[in-house]
Amino acid sequence: MNIIDGKKVSARVKSDVRAEAEALKAKGIGIGLAVVIVGDDPASRVYVNNKKKACAEVGFESFEYALPASTTQEELLDLVSKLNKDDKVNGILVQLPLPKHIDENAVINAISPDKDVDAFHPQNVGHIMIGDFSFLPCTPAGVMELIAETGIEISGKKCVVIGRSNIVGKPMAMLLLHKSGTVTVTHSRTVDLPSVTREADILVVAVGKAKFVTADMIKPGAVVIDVGMDRDENGKLCGDVDFEDCKEKAGYITPVPGGVGPMTIAMLMRNTLTAAKIQNGCQD
Ligand code: NAP
Repeated sequence: MNIIDGKKVSARVKSDVRAEAEALKAKGIGIGLAVVIVGDDPASRVYVNNKKKACAEVGFESFEYALPASTTQEELLDLVSKLNKDDKVNGILVQLPLPKHIDENAVINAISPDKDVDAFHPQNVGHIMIGDFSFLPCTPAGVMELIAETGIEISGKKCVVIGRSNIVGKPMAMLLLHKSGTVTVTHSRTVDLPSVTREADILVVAVGKAKFVTADMIKPGAVVIDVGMDRDENGKLCGDVDFEDCKEKAGYITPVPGGVGPMTIAMLMRNTLTAAKIQNGCQD
């Protein structure tokens, strides 16, 4: 059993981003990320604080817009339009979920694709589909870095993704496919899920159910990546994979916390750097 250390890999990604950000600063190019939060959801507040902290770590400026839950869709769209035009803002992140009276798709569609560092805009989703992209979706991109860390080649491997959300499962499947994995996407209607997951050389789990994947569902020696951020019976943070049950059987496994979570934020920093480079005409 090998534990893949997301904290270590994310620190390396952030350190690379910081070095590039410093080089840009020396040329007079600063980097800024606008983070918009609507309402007072405690989980969203934690995510936003972590993103602001990461900005400080890599030398970006962060601009927080904390709006009340009563904000109208029109007011939010006005803010997005203002941020689209603001030269100091290279990336725009609107923390989801939004209050029920706001149409999330309308807001995502209003963000300029060049500043869409979450890669949720349909234009960027289309680029990911055809494999010609600037912004990678942060969580799946973080998973790819963690798989790379194992040294295991994806090409030709049987890859199984549990979950088909637009944020994780679907783009995850695309990134594995672009690396020539043989990819199966499973979901709540999949018949006999364990028989499918037991075939996986690489298993990525994004279900949103605490300790859902148990040792009998994995192939001996498999790479098991746990995207889940759940609470166990004692209210403690845990993943979608029963880590204690699976850790001896898996070849490589990510813990929760300390696996995919830190990678998502590191990849957001990388996307913001990429956005700044594109906007200033200095991409590699
Ligand atoms: P989601 O939108 O709720 O999607 C869950 C997926 O799991 C759906 O596709 C669903 O299938 C499938 N599913 C549910 N029950 C199943 C079952 N019994 N068997 C097989 N598939 C089943 O969730 P998400 O946004 O993708 O997030 C998944 C997890 O990742 C959550 O714990 C979330 O907190 C976490 N997450 C973590 C990060 C991070 O940075 N670490 C980022 C994003 C999300 P159907 O489509 O058929 O309903």
